[in-house]
Amino acid sequence: MPYSHQFVYIFFCLFLACNSEAQKKSNFKIQKTEAEWKSQLTDLQYYVMRKQGTERAFSSPYDKNFLQGTYVCAACETPLFSSDHKFNSGTGWPSFDREIKGNVSFSVDYNIGMARTEEHCSNCGGHLGHMFSDGPRKTTGKRHCINGASLKFITSNE
Ligand SMILES: [Zn+2]
Repeated sequence: MPYSHQFVYIFFCLFLACNSEAQKKSNFKIQKTEAEWKSQLTDLQYYVMRKQGTERAFSSPYDKNFLQGTYVCAACETPLFSSDHKFNSGTGWPSFDREIKGNVSFSVDYNIGMARTEEHCSNCGGHLGHMFSDGPRKTTGKRHCINGASLKFITSNE
């Protein structure tokens, strides 16, 4: 291999190595391997939370749950949404007009060919759902459309 080609080749390898390292690394406090997540979560939870999947509409019992309490992350139990901010959107997914600030993070995905605001748990990175701007106008105007599979409901003691 001529010297100049060799140089380009080495440079290319370094670039790839850096790039894949950056993808693996994230800032989430809770870090687990795919195998660990798979053994901890149900098949549906794994599909939704780790593969950005979506559960079937009207399939979650939380869609029509209006008891008082807190919805925590199904993977790491971080409090994500309060029942005070839940509303019946009619979409078939648990819907909230706001999140518990600081515990939910946002990104943009193009999984269905258009930009959507994706939401995930700030602590473990588990995918939760998407946020839309057609929520209740009287409050925030936001609709956090959340997979029940990503949530665990804790009833408040009253
Ligand atoms: Zn979490």
